[in-house]
Amino acid sequence: MVQKASAKQQLLDFLEGHEGEAGIVYCLSRRKVDDTTATLQAQGIKALAYHAGMDGETRARHQRRFLREDGVVIVATIAFGMGIDKPDVRFVAHMDLPKSLEGYYQETGRAGRDGEPAEAWLCYGLQDVVLLKQMIDGGDAGEERKRVEHRKLDTLLGYCESTRCRRQVLLSCFGETYPEPCGNCDTCLEPPETWDATVEAQKALSCAYRTGQRFGASHLVDVLRGGNTERIRELRHDKLSTWGIGEDIDARQWRGIFRQLVVGGLLEVDADGYGSLRLTQAAGPVLRGEVRLELRREPKPLRDRKRASARATQSASPLCPEDDALFQRLRALRAELARDQNVPAYVIFHDATLRQIAEVRPRNETELAGIGGVGATKLERYGEFFIDAVREADFDAA
Ligand SMILES: [Zn+2]
Repeated sequence: MVQKASAKQQLLDFLEGHEGEAGIVYCLSRRKVDDTTATLQAQGIKALAYHAGMDGETRARHQRRFLREDGVVIVATIAFGMGIDKPDVRFVAHMDLPKSLEGYYQETGRAGRDGEPAEAWLCYGLQDVVLLKQMIDGGDAGEERKRVEHRKLDTLLGYCESTRCRRQVLLSCFGETYPEPCGNCDTCLEPPETWDATVEAQKALSCAYRTGQRFGASHLVDVLRGGNTERIRELRHDKLSTWGIGEDIDARQWRGIFRQLVVGGLLEVDADGYGSLRLTQAAGPVLRGEVRLELRREPKPLRDRKRASARATQSASPLCPEDDALFQRLRALRAELARDQNVPAYVIFHDATLRQIAEVRPRNETELAGIGGVGATKLERYGEFFIDAVREADFDAA
């Protein structure tokens, strides 16, 4: 889970850790799917779009390529994925918040079905929260339905903002318990810091109040940070007592505070469509200093986090350089065979099997048969190709 700053660059940084791997990038709108696909393609990534606005033939072709070729990244609306059973999806990235935790669970569940390491990544910010809340309020659904939708969104946001092990929180939402922290999610790998943000929350809340509860977070952050924009001068917000009282905290951290105040129910998004933030009743005790408020410190952005995410996706035992070189050769061979026979690559062998072949280096069919995922039929059909590849690699190395 990362706070959105410059989403496309953040996605590219994330994808650096998944070069040549298959994955799914989910976006909320068709326009964003097209836009994101273009960005990835411009970076030389084999990205293909998928959404309901495309003609059926192109859509089917993209889906087929995703299933059959190695390393295709599909950029899609949630229309994509039903009935997709591709075992070697190495990552699922969300450029926008999904609509519910159930949706998130289902979408991320498409990664790592072969049991190999896979990564789920989600990028979101206050704007996403505001947008989804407005979509619910502005919809035609009845009051009861809207309440249900809001509750679903709140569950999802609670998960996003959690400081506990994600896996434990996720499973507990579905009535299961996971006894120990998983040691594999972002909060386990980099336990988030919390801090006493009572004073900062008071500043943020009174800034919203003093500006008439008519403004969104970006203007409020400008006021708190003592900004000198035309809008601030026009509105005479530089004359307010809250102008410039938050200069010691950077804008990113302030946006995180506002997001958490909204998610925590101290501020609500006005249904006016402009994202204005209004105080709720829950804000009173904080403003009066009757309760303390602990918030989560925003994790460091981009570059610093990349290392952690790369670490998270490493397999339990990384291959040594020679084995990795062979593994890449085997993958290339698999891609070639898949093309010739017009079948998806994973139908031939899973990555886990190729990795084991690269480590064990079987010299004959008996040895190859001892590797997980190599049954009699596959042995007969593909055995000799892979044994030859191992021999060749050993020959080259000698
Ligand atoms: Zn965990």
